[in-house]
Amino acid sequence: MEKFLWIHLNLRRKVILGFAIWLCALGAISVVSYYNLLRIEGKVAVVEIADDLSNIILEMRRYEKNYFLYGEGYDENVIHGRMALDKLDEAENYGRQLLVADSIAHIREALTAYQQNLDRIHRAGYAVSKKDIDRLRSLGQQLEETSRRMVRFERKRIMQINEQLRRNLFISLAMVLVLGAGLVHFLRNRIIRPLREVEETTLKIAEGSFEPVTMGRADDEIRRIMQAINRMVSELERRQEQLVQNKKLSSIGTLSSGIAHQLNNPLNNISTSCQLLMEEDQAPDPEFTARMLQNIERETLRARDIVRGLLEFSRSHEFALRRENLREVVRGAIRLISSQTPPGVEIESWIPEDVEVDMDRQQIQEMLLNLLINGIHAVAGVGTGLSVTAEADPGRNRVSLFVEDDGCGFSEEVRGQMFDPFFTTKDVGSGTGLGLYIAYGVVRKHGGEICVEGREGVGARFVIRLPMRLAELPKEQG
Ligand code: ADP
Repeated sequence: MEKFLWIHLNLRRKVILGFAIWLCALGAISVVSYYNLLRIEGKVAVVEIADDLSNIILEMRRYEKNYFLYGEGYDENVIHGRMALDKLDEAENYGRQLLVADSIAHIREALTAYQQNLDRIHRAGYAVSKKDIDRLRSLGQQLEETSRRMVRFERKRIMQINEQLRRNLFISLAMVLVLGAGLVHFLRNRIIRPLREVEETTLKIAEGSFEPVTMGRADDEIRRIMQAINRMVSELERRQEQLVQNKKLSSIGTLSSGIAHQLNNPLNNISTSCQLLMEEDQAPDPEFTARMLQNIERETLRARDIVRGLLEFSRSHEFALRRENLREVVRGAIRLISSQTPPGVEIESWIPEDVEVDMDRQQIQEMLLNLLINGIHAVAGVGTGLSVTAEADPGRNRVSLFVEDDGCGFSEEVRGQMFDPFFTTKDVGSGTGLGLYIAYGVVRKHGGEICVEGREGVGARFVIRLPMRLAELPKEQG
């Protein structure tokens, strides 16, 4: 039943209940310890009184001895008798609660008998009998003995209470520690660890990766927070996809006009070759005809490649990893952008021939296009060109791509914000501030890193490190 109740409590109530139990345990320990301390205090006071009483009785006996030897000391004996009675009254205040009432009553009785005896002896003068003296002495001894026993008894009780107090304290401390440890364990497992996971997830989101948080089994507030975080993660992922798509659409718009321009060349060449062939109409030279037809075929293929590049780039598809030749991917991106390159600006690439990387071709091309478009903007009027180079390190399963330009560069302040979404230094209409943000997202999605080096007036160098082989790649493609 208790377990049932515990399961149905929400996290806040569980924490409150846990602390309440812990505080109650602490409170109970304090109350019991305080009570035991009070008992010890009372006992110590009684021992002190009993000690005084024992000393007073000893003094009384000394005066009794003097009285019988030298006839002196009667008054002092009586005074000490009264002092002993006062002490007994004092002891009685504690004794009532402290189980010494019996001893006190016994001493009081013996003391009264002793005083009456001594008084009778004193009044009788020299006519006192040996029997009376013996009885007095026996009463005196009895008094002495009982008071000493009382002291011993109370001392022993103090030791016992002390021992009990120590044992109780030890057990309660152990209980409080176990309860505290349980509470800490509960807080760590059910609150701190999940919150840390949430924190890690938010950091990953900030870095562009949209991994959901793994949820525990308990149906509590933390699970609901995690569900909300996971909903947010998938919503963010969806929105980022949308952003990427929008940016891509705007890139396709820009690229299409360039592509149309690029198609002019092969079409012109095809048209010229056709015209020349038609002019040869009367006496066709077979060799010349073959050359012209080869020309036409080459230019047709060129035109097909140009159109295919744009088609491949614009086709919408799900993120899919394939093993691609890096050189082809980079060249494809450069081909797409080449119509945007102003006169006097060169784009060069040095990529080793046989480097194969697991990637989503479209996304990596988009990332390269964004970097290249930025580079073209940066070199306009100040630089001479851009270069794309690569170094493969199969041993460490890593390929590094360098996209470099000798353009205007950037300040330290710009460098700090370059990868932020919507950050742009360009005029309204020409910059969206999404190019580098998307590039960052693409690289992170491929398990890689991107960073930038450069200075104002010197140029920029983007370094992209990607793993060559990715675990999720389907087997048949490897
Ligand atoms: P946009 O190009 O739309 O401004 P980006 O996210 O692509 O958005 O770039 C953000 C900013 O980073 C640019 O506005 C520019 O200031 C800076 N930047 C990007 N690439 C370069 C580069 N190659 N050289 C100098 N500055 C650059």
